[in-house]
Amino acid sequence: MHARIIDGKAIAEGMRADLAKEIESLGEAGVTPGLAVVLVGEDPASQVYVRMKGKACDKIGIYSETIKLPKETSETELMEVIDRLNADPKIHGMLVQLPLPKQINERNVLLRIIPEKDVDGFHPVNVGKVATGDTTAFRPATPYGIQQMLIRSGVEISGAHAVIVGRSNIVGKPMASLLMQKADGANATVTVCHSRTKDLPGVTRQGDILIAAIGVAEFVKADMIKPGAVVIDVGTNRVDDASAEKGYRLVGDVDFDRAKEVASAITPVPGGVGPMTITMLLYNTVQAARQWSQA
Ligand code: NDP
Repeated sequence: MHARIIDGKAIAEGMRADLAKEIESLGEAGVTPGLAVVLVGEDPASQVYVRMKGKACDKIGIYSETIKLPKETSETELMEVIDRLNADPKIHGMLVQLPLPKQINERNVLLRIIPEKDVDGFHPVNVGKVATGDTTAFRPATPYGIQQMLIRSGVEISGAHAVIVGRSNIVGKPMASLLMQKADGANATVTVCHSRTKDLPGVTRQGDILIAAIGVAEFVKADMIKPGAVVIDVGTNRVDDASAEKGYRLVGDVDFDRAKEVASAITPVPGGVGPMTITMLLYNTVQAARQWSQA
């Protein structure tokens, strides 16, 4: 078998074109969606992500503010910034880029952002809304993007056995929540695996849809995949590569070259899940603007 490649970049571009039209019509009604991104410190990967988010907003017509704070910022100082943004009518959605320096408690920060502006979907109110199928919820961008990729590439989710490897609060758990809902684009039977799962290959081989969110380069081998399964690779791992310009290359959590001989469809890394994630943040910001304008 030779798997169909699910092109996240192309799907994301199509979705951004649709979203641009919605932003235009919101503009005609006098509403410009606004996103604030707060970065504390100088983590290089975080700086790249924050820059990408700002650029994506500019390109599509979302007003954005990037607030950069020094790495010594105290929790109280960060809370003051969040409070200001919570009260700012130009800002419909905000996020604080993770990870945070160790003097700041991540949970306190996530709780301080009002749920109505929590476009990352990490506040317990949004987690609960996603779990209970409330469509006003902000869905965490990565699993929301994966669900959209599956839907838009014609994968039958209803009735499928979706096996997720990874149980983080930002990917694995919300992915399970989304796919198990009694709703369109869901209705899967979901299994979530982690580092204590017994006979992991035996479980992953049951997946009609296999989603790998582990953070270990090429961990999922071809013999862990059910023939004909749809494989979604969330992993973004840097591996040394002297022949690459930067001295490294990005690989996923799936052994792509061999897996594509077993799967019926598969996402590449890069160019799969990654481009969808920022797109869904833009969608959530527009959803926030719509919900604020109707409140
Ligand atoms: P976490 O480190 O928070 O979670 C990893 C999960 O994998 C944990 O649940 C862990 O189990 C499980 N795991 C680790 N080792 C094994 C193993 N040997 N067998 C079974 N399960 C294992 O990672 P994230 O969810 O934040 O991210 C996962 C990957 O996705 C990373 O590569 C990250 O860079 C990438 N990512 C990509 C995004 C994108 O937009 N493309 C966005 C977000 C993440 P346990 O809970 O037992 O420790």
